[in-house]
Amino acid sequence: MEFESGLVESEKDFVDLERNLVDLRIDLMDFAGLGMNLMDLGMNFLDLKMCFGDLRMDLEMGFVSLKMDFVDVVFDFDKTIIDLDSDNWVVDEFGASDMFDQLVPTMPWNTVMDTMMKEIHARGKTMQDIEQVLKRAPVIPWVVPAIKAAHALGCDLKIVSDANLFFVETILEHSGIKDCFSEINTNPSYVDDEGKLRIRPYHDFDHKCNNPCPPNMCKGLVIERMQAASLAMEGNNNKKRMIYLGDGAGDFCPSLMLKEQDFVMPRKDFSVWKLMNENLQLIKAKIHGWTDGEELQHILLRIIKAITTIEEKQILSAVDHSKFQTIYSH
Ligand SMILES: [Mg+2]
Ligand SMILES: [Zn+2]
Repeated sequence: MEFESGLVESEKDFVDLERNLVDLRIDLMDFAGLGMNLMDLGMNFLDLKMCFGDLRMDLEMGFVSLKMDFVDVVFDFDKTIIDLDSDNWVVDEFGASDMFDQLVPTMPWNTVMDTMMKEIHARGKTMQDIEQVLKRAPVIPWVVPAIKAAHALGCDLKIVSDANLFFVETILEHSGIKDCFSEINTNPSYVDDEGKLRIRPYHDFDHKCNNPCPPNMCKGLVIERMQAASLAMEGNNNKKRMIYLGDGAGDFCPSLMLKEQDFVMPRKDFSVWKLMNENLQLIKAKIHGWTDGEELQHILLRIIKAITTIEEKQILSAVDHSKFQTIYSH
């Protein structure tokens, strides 16, 4: 089957990436050793920074280390970080599922949720009640440590979600991982004068995307904006790579936006996996599916380590040796 062979092919690329690790470790050891010798000779950090400042290097504790700021990891939220849909969870927990099911065929999901928040408020439930329900939402096991590890490795973590800001922030905060994320792109929410949670669309129901994106949010446009921002920061030899994780039909559009150097991690047998299966020729990024949190963590960290290793190698090979020599011979 075409999809299977595509996956085998990307797995092969991945093994090739990892194989580079072996050579690279030697280069890095030599390089770190050289840095130490220079300091023995009276070199100071500023001299070394002059050599490598433009190569995004940092010096810490006398060792040469690299800032791992060349990976963006972008997470969907519902069924990617938590194990269910937060909208459904809140509605079900307040026993309002019947009304929700009646409304869904009649208006956009985003508007249904705003209406449901009015209903839940009318039933006497407060923001604190909603917060308590959100704090009980099950997070996928292993995903919190995976996120903490990716953050510790220096990746730039971002959320792109069709839930809403209050739901996403409350659960991330409760899980102790909110500070790991530099961006939360989701439907805005606010508490109105009556104490009701109001939920607005991310886009004003006006995006022109033809992929299966809901009218209130095209995640592909969010990814395009991120790509343009990193291109503006890094210039034409933009090295920043993206890893995108998601499960739903709305995660198909951003998967199409990813470039050859990127990675997409669809949840196996969920909507995005099926859409990718049917449109494999349109996906430029390498595909690594996952089933549970343990597999998500394993694959994500393998990819990050492979990318950072290759980037380190490219940066080290681009070091201006003539400049280095001048300082060394002082
Ligand atoms: Mg999702
Ligand atoms: Zn779209």
